[in-house]
Amino acid sequence: MGAGTVLREAPPRIDAEAQVVVIGAGACGLTAALRAKAGGADVLVLERDASPSGSTSMSSGFVPAASTRFQRAIGVDDDTSQLFEADILAKSGGKSDRHLTHLASRTIGEALEWLADAHGIEWIVLDDFLYPGHSRHRMHAVPEKTGAALLARLLAATERADIPVVTEARVSRLYADANNRITAVEISRPKGNSEILACENLILACNGYGGNRELVARHIPEIARATYYGHEGNKGDALYWGEALGCELKHLSGYQGHGSLAHPHGILISWALMMEGAIQVNVRGERFSNENGGYSEQAVNVLRQPEGIAWNIYDERIHEFALNFPDYREAVEASAIRHAADPTELAAITRLPASTLEKTFEEIAKYRAGTAKDPFGRDFTARPGLNPPYHAVRVTGALFHTQGGAKIDDHARVLDRTGKPLPNLFAGGGSACGVSGPDVSGYLSGNGLLTAIAFGFLAGTFSAQRAGR
Ligand SMILES: Cc1cc2nc3c(=O)[nH]c(=O)nc-3n(C[C@H](O)[C@H](O)[C@H](O)COP(=O)(O)OP(=O)(O)OC[C@H]3O[C@@H](n4cnc5c(N)ncnc54)[C@H](O)[C@@H]3O)c2cc1C
Repeated sequence: MGAGTVLREAPPRIDAEAQVVVIGAGACGLTAALRAKAGGADVLVLERDASPSGSTSMSSGFVPAASTRFQRAIGVDDDTSQLFEADILAKSGGKSDRHLTHLASRTIGEALEWLADAHGIEWIVLDDFLYPGHSRHRMHAVPEKTGAALLARLLAATERADIPVVTEARVSRLYADANNRITAVEISRPKGNSEILACENLILACNGYGGNRELVARHIPEIARATYYGHEGNKGDALYWGEALGCELKHLSGYQGHGSLAHPHGILISWALMMEGAIQVNVRGERFSNENGGYSEQAVNVLRQPEGIAWNIYDERIHEFALNFPDYREAVEASAIRHAADPTELAAITRLPASTLEKTFEEIAKYRAGTAKDPFGRDFTARPGLNPPYHAVRVTGALFHTQGGAKIDDHARVLDRTGKPLPNLFAGGGSACGVSGPDVSGYLSGNGLLTAIAFGFLAGTFSAQRAGR
């Protein structure tokens, strides 16, 4: 039986049951489970991996939210969900799904405060750097500032709440009746055996299809040959089930890319370096874009360069700043970061043509002095210039996660193609349509965990309300 099958028959047996079954133990699934349990439902989480990690634990763990008490605690008291919503729409050129953008931006603050109050998940607001496209400091993170720590804290809360997370439990197919009500799910175990679990409500929190080459090639051909840097287990099961159930699937060409993945080390080099003054050149030593644009669309720009490679070049000041990021420190330890005393040594260690590199530096000096304009439109006057010694890292463009999926309503219920909610199916995170629109350039920093936590929160709340009915 192929991936994402829906069987239109009664299950042959039932091995266990739960009022709310959640597929996937990432940020979305665990938030949904915690919320459903708090709403009085009997909840079960099914996770294909032996140890839950998901894209959530690979992420930087930064969650944007507006008008939270965590922001107010550091003096950010003029942010609103309307402002946040406007920033999301500005990034996508107005192409994000407006209903979902409104829903996510107004829900996320409440969700983060609830996770803190009900489950002791602490949030700090990052104010050392304004993420591109965000008009206020609104990036929240757990104190360790990593996605792994965020997932660990959610898992610990799930354990304290006595919610079973069944691992090595890949949901291979769904059973649905003639009214599109999901009656049960089948899980396949690594040794080949299977179990069937009846459910009153089902939450799809199994992310998107970044880990499925065939689906990426079908929906996002421009990134099909790039490295996929998200969780390999995200095979697009929610998309297959959505297709089989006749759900409205939206913005399937939308995705988050990243134009700065250390190559071949496969370590994320934060785009904050570019915002601080770093530049990107191709293997010919030439700049090719405005590096202060979005890091998502830069994936495509980098992949278009010879060999699909770029060099990030910066100086000691930016290197010191970058050491604040755990990923960057990892890149230093992995010897991905090269050091050079002057432009000649920089050209030698990167094997970039010295004359072109020198010309690139001369041009930037003119843009900074205001005697010439950058043809790519970057404003070099805002940050200090680059001074020796230099640092450089070889990078490529990558696919981080897909942004399209099932269209949901205010209660995170999955809608069919006529706009009607399915009786008992919910979705969030990468399984639902996101707020980034249909293009790579629509992704505003944090859109991923935004919809994972906000829509997971809604799915948990409203699935619990329906439990036992
Ligand atoms: C390198 C990187 C950095 C990122 N940084 C950020 C950031 O700072 N901020 C931000 O907002 N976003 C970021 N993102 C995006 C963010 O990680 C995702 O948007 C978010 O984690 C999605 O959460 P999720 O719960 O939907 O999916 P996941 O965390 O991927 O969880 C889905 C789970 O479902 C499981 N699963 C899949 N199929 C099945 C099945 N059939 N049966 C059972 N289990 C299944 C998977 O194993 C997985 O554990 C980043 C992504 C990457 C790759």
